[in-house]
Amino acid sequence: MAKQRTLDALFGQSSEPDAKKPRLQKEEDDEVEADEHIDANAAEKTAESVVKNVVSEPSWKSGSPIQYATLVETFSKVEATTKRLDILQYVTDLFVKVIAHCRKTSMECASENLLYTVYMCINRLCPDYEGLELGIGEGLLVKAIAQSTGREVIRIKKELEKQGDLGLVALASRKHQPTMFQAQKLTVPSVFKQLKEIARATGAKSQDKKLGIIKRLLAACVGEESKYLIRSLEGKLRIGLAEKTVLVAVAHAVILTSLGAKASKTDKDELASILESGTNIVKAVFSELPSYNVLIPALLEHGVEGLRDRVKLTPGIPLKPMLAKPTKEIGEVLDRFENRSFTCEYKYDGERAQIHGYIDEQGQQVICVFSRNSEDMSKKYPDLVVQTPHCLGQGVTSFVLDAEAVAWQPLHIAQAERADATDGRLLPFQELSRRKRKDVKAEDIKVSVKIFAFDLLYLNGEPLLNQPLDERRTKLKQHFVPVADEFDYAIHRDCQTTEEIQTFLDESVASGCEGLMVKMLEGPDATYEPSRRSINWLKLKKDYLSGTGDSLDLTVIGGYYGKGKRTNVYGAYLLACYDENSETYQSICKIGTGFSEADLDAHYATLKPLELTQKKGYYDVGDAKPDVYFEPRVVWEVLTADLSLSPVYTAAKSMIDARGISLRFPRFLRIRDDKVPEQSTAPEQIAQMYRAQAVASKKQRGRDDEDDFW
Ligand code: ATP
Repeated sequence: MAKQRTLDALFGQSSEPDAKKPRLQKEEDDEVEADEHIDANAAEKTAESVVKNVVSEPSWKSGSPIQYATLVETFSKVEATTKRLDILQYVTDLFVKVIAHCRKTSMECASENLLYTVYMCINRLCPDYEGLELGIGEGLLVKAIAQSTGREVIRIKKELEKQGDLGLVALASRKHQPTMFQAQKLTVPSVFKQLKEIARATGAKSQDKKLGIIKRLLAACVGEESKYLIRSLEGKLRIGLAEKTVLVAVAHAVILTSLGAKASKTDKDELASILESGTNIVKAVFSELPSYNVLIPALLEHGVEGLRDRVKLTPGIPLKPMLAKPTKEIGEVLDRFENRSFTCEYKYDGERAQIHGYIDEQGQQVICVFSRNSEDMSKKYPDLVVQTPHCLGQGVTSFVLDAEAVAWQPLHIAQAERADATDGRLLPFQELSRRKRKDVKAEDIKVSVKIFAFDLLYLNGEPLLNQPLDERRTKLKQHFVPVADEFDYAIHRDCQTTEEIQTFLDESVASGCEGLMVKMLEGPDATYEPSRRSINWLKLKKDYLSGTGDSLDLTVIGGYYGKGKRTNVYGAYLLACYDENSETYQSICKIGTGFSEADLDAHYATLKPLELTQKKGYYDVGDAKPDVYFEPRVVWEVLTADLSLSPVYTAAKSMIDARGISLRFPRFLRIRDDKVPEQSTAPEQIAQMYRAQAVASKKQRGRDDEDDFW
């Protein structure tokens, strides 16, 4: 079982198979199984390699910034393998080198170099909530490659058509045109800072400025550097390096460098266990405060042991929200929660809002609203920023609320419609999506928003994540007061039987909600688990009870020209899920149903400018043949009758069978502009839906062979 001791090692879960576990429990384990596993032998190998790195001199001068070539060498090794343990090892080695050699100058130097190296590995420039993105169009990159290598744009485009990867084209172009003199070697900090400069460039001359920086960078590239530089600029490294591997590698590197030469002398089981517990701490801390800017300096300065006390949930920095598992029968809810203390809440149909409040250094109260996506939404909801202080009880100075912002018809308008109305009423989600996303002015707001709070995560300097829901809820009610048309608690009832849940579900739908959220209420399973899709929260949506249990959020990657009434718009679209391990979009279905004429016009207007000259190399479309491909920008929520194995589409391929999974009778529900394409439904979730459906249909056929299936 040593080899299976694994993500215990990394993620603190038991991965031992257990036929008696309820279905949902097994699903959660499956997700964990898909991650990296580390055992004692792997730990020993890592330790040996660390010792080699700590004692050996790196290829760059000790104490100076890490060279870009060193990073690229790691990217190249990672790209050449699909073995997750090897990938983890390469990245850990890289981080160890950075820490061991840069700290000879100072801890700040090590911290800065490690931070930039981590950002380059995850292809980001800053934490999500700061919202700085590269967003460079293909055209500008083609131009930069052409100008810096003296090749014609048309030739580059032709080659791109053949290769499907601009990184490879850049590499080949440099081989055609060797530079006459060797520019100074690129370092990771200098490349990173220039990428940030590109992202920050705005205004009339910004395109020229960006072009100038990219050309300078390309001119200084040697070996494979141009390939990865261009891919970073495109926003997709495509080397199969998932962020969770990078985080684990950071933890391992810090632990191993602090052990130094002792690492290879430590008993391998003991080493695996040190890595395991340290990684668990880093993961827990990061999900509370997902900012490498804070995590990395703290880790280097105080080590893993001091981390929990120093890095905690902080108002102003959004934590990754806890998510729920879908269910499609009330029976499934009882499978999970029977004989436990649980609660049902209305599932409001709006937009998730994490509301933070604190007093800044100038003594001013600050209110920020973050989306499910950790985006700062304060500009979309200036009214919430004004409303929130009204609901604060006495003595509340800092807090983090988890809530749903819902479109709301205020009481005076409701009374104008119905004289006997005693309260305002919930409006459908579509009303909310009519609001602009940015720079909303208070005087332009036509759709009011009311907050329904369902959780309190932080209060007056104290994180509440480890308290059970019943205690968090009590504090919520003690310290926040309902305000007509502005703020209320999510309606809840502590049901026990199927009939009670069914009645409450019907009531919620009659009031304009989507269904219920069912949550563990007391005990250790009732804590708030940031970023986790947990079996301690289940969602029960009325519409999906007879379907797959949930809708899917999918990226639009292709279009089919319309015929007949749809001649001037796209008649159908190719949708894809996103696989973060391989960084590919996998095709899942062609969709042409659920669109009004107005929808089709609007989609055409949005998607036409996103048309590509050829398919992206990271689109794994199988045998789907759309007429055009699009940049991956648009996410739609889609409903399906069921899922089937498909020889054409590639979603979740090899997870159930060599074939992919596709949607039967997919229907468009709505645009999900609160999700980025990388947050599309994952192949693992699709495989789970497929399995759950297979189990349900077996049950229907009266053969209770559920355990065999698993
Ligand atoms: P997910 O957030 O699970 O990835 P999704 O974004 O498609 O899925 P839904 O399937 O609609 O969203 O369900 C989860 C969402 O329901 C939450 O993210 C939250 O915005 C919303 N919600 C409404 N009421 C509640 C509630 N009482 N408790 C928790 N979440 C709620």
